[in-house]
Amino acid sequence: MPREARTTIDRPHRAFPAPALRSGESWRVLAACVGADPEAFYADDGAVQELARGICGRCPVRTICLADALDAPRTGKHGIWGGTTAMERANLTAGERADARGRAQVALTALRMCETPTVA
Ligand code: SF4
Repeated sequence: MPREARTTIDRPHRAFPAPALRSGESWRVLAACVGADPEAFYADDGAVQELARGICGRCPVRTICLADALDAPRTGKHGIWGGTTAMERANLTAGERADARGRAQVALTALRMCETPTVA
């Protein structure tokens, strides 16, 4: 099995398509939340969270943002990442099993969340 394919199975959410970035450029420079009030992304108020999720809904790096949050549970423990709340991310990974099928299921669920805009 090619090494890339093995990596994708080990960390399937890394298979998400990535936008074009210049060499050395961080995906964060393309984030739709650049310049937005960071408090909105860490608010407890559901209405405020929806405002943040609305920004995520039109973000070109949403899949990468979510993948990073899933990869780094401590970093992604709080706040809105990739249009998901901490609870949603916890639910995504709670049923994750050690086998490839379980990891693939997490990846597919996360991908569906990224493909679904949070605002009309
Ligand atoms: S998905 Fe949301 S939190 Fe992540 S970079 Fe885009 S706007 Fe920011």
